[in-house]
Amino acid sequence: MELKTDLKIDESTGLIKDNCDLEDGEISTYKTGSTTLKYNSENFDFYTSMVVLKTGQATSEDYGTLINPSQNTSENKGERGFKRIISQLRSLRSNNNNQAEPVEENLDDNKLERKQENVFALLEMNSDKSDNEESVSQAFTSPREESNRSNMNDFTDIPYLKLAFSKLVDPNKRYSKLWTNILNKLKKNSNELDSKKENVTVLGSGWASTTFIKNLDPKLYHVTLISPRPWFTMTPLLTAAISGRIGLRTVISPVSRYLFKYPKRGFELIKGEAIDYLGNNTIKIKTNCNEEKIHKYDKLVIGVGSVTNTFNIPGVEKKVSFLKTIDDVREIREKLFNNFAIAKNNNLSPKEKEKLLSIAIVGGGFAGVETAFELQNLIETDLKFMYPDEAKFAKISIVEMLPNMLPICEKSVSEFANNTLDQQKIKRYNNCRVTLVDADAINVVDKNSTSFKIPASQVIWVSGIMQTSFVKKLIDKIEQQKDNRFLLVNPDLSVIGTKDMYAFGDCSRLTVKPLSSIIYKECVRNVSLQKQLCSTTQKLFEGRFN
Ligand SMILES: Cc1cc2nc3c(=O)[nH]c(=O)nc-3n(C[C@H](O)[C@H](O)[C@H](O)COP(=O)(O)OP(=O)(O)OC[C@H]3O[C@@H](n4cnc5c(N)ncnc54)[C@H](O)[C@@H]3O)c2cc1C
Repeated sequence: MELKTDLKIDESTGLIKDNCDLEDGEISTYKTGSTTLKYNSENFDFYTSMVVLKTGQATSEDYGTLINPSQNTSENKGERGFKRIISQLRSLRSNNNNQAEPVEENLDDNKLERKQENVFALLEMNSDKSDNEESVSQAFTSPREESNRSNMNDFTDIPYLKLAFSKLVDPNKRYSKLWTNILNKLKKNSNELDSKKENVTVLGSGWASTTFIKNLDPKLYHVTLISPRPWFTMTPLLTAAISGRIGLRTVISPVSRYLFKYPKRGFELIKGEAIDYLGNNTIKIKTNCNEEKIHKYDKLVIGVGSVTNTFNIPGVEKKVSFLKTIDDVREIREKLFNNFAIAKNNNLSPKEKEKLLSIAIVGGGFAGVETAFELQNLIETDLKFMYPDEAKFAKISIVEMLPNMLPICEKSVSEFANNTLDQQKIKRYNNCRVTLVDADAINVVDKNSTSFKIPASQVIWVSGIMQTSFVKKLIDKIEQQKDNRFLLVNPDLSVIGTKDMYAFGDCSRLTVKPLSSIIYKECVRNVSLQKQLCSTTQKLFEGRFN
């Protein structure tokens, strides 16, 4: 066996690959990136940490020498320790070279069968059966050739099997036939188990879908995840990423994080989107490479979220930035920084600067109000530092159709938002409806039906949600779906009027109120009832004792 293989250590243990490059007994510079250690014209391939483990006698002094030999001179102990390791490596290598290749053990049919039965008995006794099958099925999909396995040391990637086998065989012999029989049987079991699993196709990788995948039992289902972006976006953090208070990488996490628990063959990720429902448990999908495909499922779980509602207002699609993804955040920041650069470098008049640096946010909900504050923060800090003469011309406006900002909140919260916006000099337009988005302004109509323009060279549109085109098509195709704003679902989240189809999150709506919401309302009612009772009782007492 080659020393290199013997010394390899699994990267999943977290040990770092280090390299020292030595020329003929001299300690030379420390390098990373290659695994070769050269000493007296001999090459040793190794991982530093493993050398320490392998020699057994290495001290931290040796370890230090290996980690950074350039800091040690030939006089110090470090080099002596290092030389000792080299000599141990040499003797390891010669031992390995002298080791005889394991020979094949000839077993007659009876012995073969008995050993095989014993291995399975031990497997069952030692651990959960399905775990074995899972690790075996993973091993089958690994690049290693099955036919090359015959000695128990070839099965380090199937630890359960190796453990069971090691109790019954001579580690220095080969058992090709026995291994093949056992593996074939396990493979058959594993395939049978696989074929029994239902294929659950999950659309989207947002809040709803990722939570679902995390909680699904991988022993019962195969999962196919179809999403245009293979990551989860923590939407409440998007606004903070606009000001740069947090980086874009912090806002997303890859879906692979949720897939570790699935065996390799139990999960498929398709980068693309569902574009149509074709009936008979099939959908049409379009991959990110623009390929259209028919996809069959046993169960379809729809978590495609929503898109921003543009209310079909002219100019919106062409001119505005939305705020749903990290690409949107990038676009908003890029445009803002570009405008500041143009304002600085083109000798613009103050009026022109004011026009160029005017930003309007449409929608006074949470996302809109937070965006306004974050933009103001960005202008007051980074942009003011980079463009001190231009920052004072920047102006942010926020437009809301209803009488207050944060209209879904109770009055005191809305008023607080109104006041804080005023304090920060963010121009607030309540009771105003946008009718047109122009190149450098938005047209609005107020509650008295008066029209006017708000200057805006940059518009950020965060005004509520509507359905994706896929969900719209789906609603059109299902007769029992009566509301064209949402996919209506039963309390078990099955889509009304369909079979094997479920929906959750922004794209769906429950037809009956969930029990939790009824209980919540009841609790709130009871609390206010209690409050009333208390205050009445208090008044009674106050009346009696005062
Ligand atoms: C800026 C901002 C801040 C927010 N803050 C809050 C908050 O503080 N609290 C709160 O409760 N809510 C907040 N929300 C709302 C919240 O993000 C949504 O309610 C939530 O994301 C809905 O989850 P979902 O899983 O239904 O959809 P999403 O999380 O939007 O995920 C939809 C997924 O489906 C994918 N997809 C879309 N179309 C297709 C298709 N055809 N095929 C396959 N995949 C598709 C998308 O790429 C995405 O991965 C905020 C929203 C925004 C935009």
